[in-house]
Amino acid sequence: MIGAGPGGYVAALRCADMLDVKTTGARVVLIERDAIGGVCLNVGCIPSKVLIHSADVADLARHSADWGVELTARIDLDRLHAHRRSTISDLTGGVATLLDDAGVERWEGTARFSKPDRLAVVTGANIRHLEFANCIIATGSRPTALASLPVDGDRIVDSTGALEFDTVPESMVVVGGGYIGVELGTAWAKLGASVTIVEGSSSLLPAMDRRLSKVVEKRLGELGVTVVLDTFVSGADDPLLADADRIIVAVGRTPNTNDLGLDTAHVPVSESGHITVGPDRRATRKIFAIGDVTSGPALAHKASAEAEVAARVIAGRAAAFDPAAIPEIVFSDPEVASIGLTEATAADQGIEASVFRYPFAAGSRSRTLGDTSGFVQLVADEAGTVIGAQLAGSGVSELAGEMALAIEMSATVEDIAATIHPHPTMSEGIAEAAYGLSGLPLHVRR
Ligand code: FAD
Repeated sequence: MIGAGPGGYVAALRCADMLDVKTTGARVVLIERDAIGGVCLNVGCIPSKVLIHSADVADLARHSADWGVELTARIDLDRLHAHRRSTISDLTGGVATLLDDAGVERWEGTARFSKPDRLAVVTGANIRHLEFANCIIATGSRPTALASLPVDGDRIVDSTGALEFDTVPESMVVVGGGYIGVELGTAWAKLGASVTIVEGSSSLLPAMDRRLSKVVEKRLGELGVTVVLDTFVSGADDPLLADADRIIVAVGRTPNTNDLGLDTAHVPVSESGHITVGPDRRATRKIFAIGDVTSGPALAHKASAEAEVAARVIAGRAAAFDPAAIPEIVFSDPEVASIGLTEATAADQGIEASVFRYPFAAGSRSRTLGDTSGFVQLVADEAGTVIGAQLAGSGVSELAGEMALAIEMSATVEDIAATIHPHPTMSEGIAEAAYGLSGLPLHVRR
């Protein structure tokens, strides 16, 4: 395995178990040039969610009086960062222990193919060689650089730098309104920065259903965040950036496929720089690729799911990566989630979908939580099978798993409607949307 992110370390654990390394003498080697846990644990999913949670706590203080409790917030970034670092080290330490327990050999160093079945691993001045029967490339991705706006690690930073500001910037511009830009911009706005998000498309979160991004844009407006759409920042001297203390460049991710010697190993790479693989994640007979280094949504759970497939194939079992849905979540305010097909993507596939949208304004849990802004939207095909769900609202990230399961199991609208959803919870919104789709809406005006 090259790379110890959620793709590589999961593949290593699974291979160690399935190849029974402790008894058969098979070797599983995990090579990492930086930190166990990859982007996700060290500078991605986890630290960003620590920042977002702290920002939500600060934001709670602004509204707590509405619930009869007056809180005052004082931001202490030193403690926030200490908490972030200890969360990361707890989690990465846990992964290292799992790997050691499983009998995975951990090598520190930068790997590169020196032959189609051989890696050269460089650690400082040392070089080691490793011949392999199978290799999984899980080298992930890095922030996409803008030539016109080079990151200087001080005023102009990428998503990694944006997690580490030692003071709350007075004013900040986020270049890029995808999920990373929106999450970071929202968090820093709640911590007190005056934030502008600039996006080249006509909406924020352009990969999401427009109705979801509208809910987020509205809340950003309420938080005082300026959203500038249909605009590309021309460079460091763009007037939009003139007053910004800090600029976050968050315009996408670039796969780490350069410097790997992929030509030597005859590994095919697409124009976008992603490794081309089959459904069994094979790029060549002996070489597999998983995670951000391949095409598809750059998400940790996709990387781990592909790791499961590659490990099974290496262990001689039949497996293919062919999910009905890869949940996509934005930890914005409110959270939004998209699972499976939208009305538009269903139409692209020739499906005449039916759609029902249940607004949380009609719900009870949303009212007790003080946020009625979102909705649950279910998408069903002609046979009534649920093929998609889009959700916006407080804590809806936790509902995405139910929808992914429903879609994978080909649940029908009737199945969901007949499933008892606990009261009062946001999950009732899913049942309500299913009632609506089955022609019997309940808590919505006729
Ligand atoms: P990575 O995690 O990128 O790991 C690849 C590893 O390979 C790295 O550790 C790297 O050092 C190592 N490596 C690279 N080249 C070599 C080499 N030649 N030799 C040795 N080692 C090498 N995803 C979610 O699902 N949910 C989220 O909430 C989420 N939030 C995010 C927030 C931010 C700010 C960012 C930046 C990303 C976020 N992501 C999120 C995306 C997620 O982090 C990635 O999709 C995930 O980490 C990809 O996993 P991976 O295993 O493919 O690669």
